[in-house]
Amino acid sequence: MEKKPFVTLDKLNEITGRFPTPFHLYDEAGIRENARRLKEAFAWNPGFREYFAVKATPNPFILRILKECGCGTDCSSMTELMMSEACGFSGQDIMFSSNDTPPAEFGFANDLGAIINLDDITHIDCLEKTLGFIPKTISCRYNPGGVFRMSNGIMDNPGEAKYGMTTEQIFEAFRILRARGAERFGIHAFLASNTVTNEYYPMLAKILFELAVKLQKETGARVAFINLSGGVGIPYRPDQEPNDIFAIGEGVRRAYEEVLVPAGMGDVAIYTELGRFMLAPYGCLVTRAIHEKHTYKEYVGVDACAVNLMRPAMYGAYHHITVMGKEDSPCDHKYDIVGSLCENNDKFAIDRMLPKIETGDLLVIHDTGAHGFSMGYNYNGKLRSAELLLCADGTVKMIRRAETPKDYFATFDFCHIMDKYL
Ligand SMILES: *Cc1c(COP(=O)(O)O)cnc(C)c1O
Repeated sequence: MEKKPFVTLDKLNEITGRFPTPFHLYDEAGIRENARRLKEAFAWNPGFREYFAVKATPNPFILRILKECGCGTDCSSMTELMMSEACGFSGQDIMFSSNDTPPAEFGFANDLGAIINLDDITHIDCLEKTLGFIPKTISCRYNPGGVFRMSNGIMDNPGEAKYGMTTEQIFEAFRILRARGAERFGIHAFLASNTVTNEYYPMLAKILFELAVKLQKETGARVAFINLSGGVGIPYRPDQEPNDIFAIGEGVRRAYEEVLVPAGMGDVAIYTELGRFMLAPYGCLVTRAIHEKHTYKEYVGVDACAVNLMRPAMYGAYHHITVMGKEDSPCDHKYDIVGSLCENNDKFAIDRMLPKIETGDLLVIHDTGAHGFSMGYNYNGKLRSAELLLCADGTVKMIRRAETPKDYFATFDFCHIMDKYL
């Protein structure tokens, strides 16, 4: 499928008149429409709820939009909990799916009334010691081990993943938690990432539904919700077929009817913790070509770099690039599109066929709305960019300002060496 930016060149020229590149831009209308479709796809389950994975796009303005769409948040750290709380999420609007959890974070999650999802059986004692009790509602993360296969081959390798409890451990955990006062149980698993297939959720659901029936039967614990977590992907490449969220919802419904309903568990709520699916296509990184370099290869240097978007440098991830205003020009030039870090992996694209790029051209790097800005860092003393929101009414709002040197030096404020820049 052809990938088109959600913003026009005219609009970008207007935006860059107010805000310098690079910046991340988000599409409010797209976010809302996608959230509405997800909700509709799971409307057959009255308890359904999406807990947006905050780590994908930790911005309070984005969280507030998702809150209006009926989502909760999924947090994995103290600051994500704080941001959720500040945005008005409270109690069981918040899922705390963390691992290797600092005890103080269990304490804060409990203070907020969040649902705590335990990554390991040993965390039961840690939680009880921290709180002085076991919460009435509790969830456990499951890892079936081995490899996770779908019809198109091996998707992921849970046996090598650090997350979750073994089958034996989750049965034992449910018994212990029940004995110590837990009353409403949840099961969670995340077995494959960025799946671009309608099969993943239904297959995962079947595994978890069968487990839930056995757990309830053998331990007497009442399973109240099953959390399919994240992992529904998006087509980063133009040749990939996008997921059909309605087919996914329907596949989960069939597994539900087949496994849970006959076991008398037709009241179990389905939860999701999607991050990428909720935001990735509705964000882009806007950057300008500032240099061209002709050596052993043809390079175009842009004003963004890997600190603004780490995925290509970190895992060779593909992000589609549109040279704005040249959408219909032939892709007859082969470029490496690079940033300015002193790291040779700082390349947004390698050997990419694109239209001829001139210095000053605006480039849109697609699908950066999730795990884009949020994976940013400050290597080479680079500063994080602004985040902008293209609002549903067509106006543009800054939802995070760009960092300044003052921000970068702020952690030296105790010793005054950098005071002239503070
Ligand atoms: C990262 C993460 C998610 C979101 O994953 P996506 O691939 O963005 O959907 C959900 N739950 C947990 C526990 C995670 O760590």
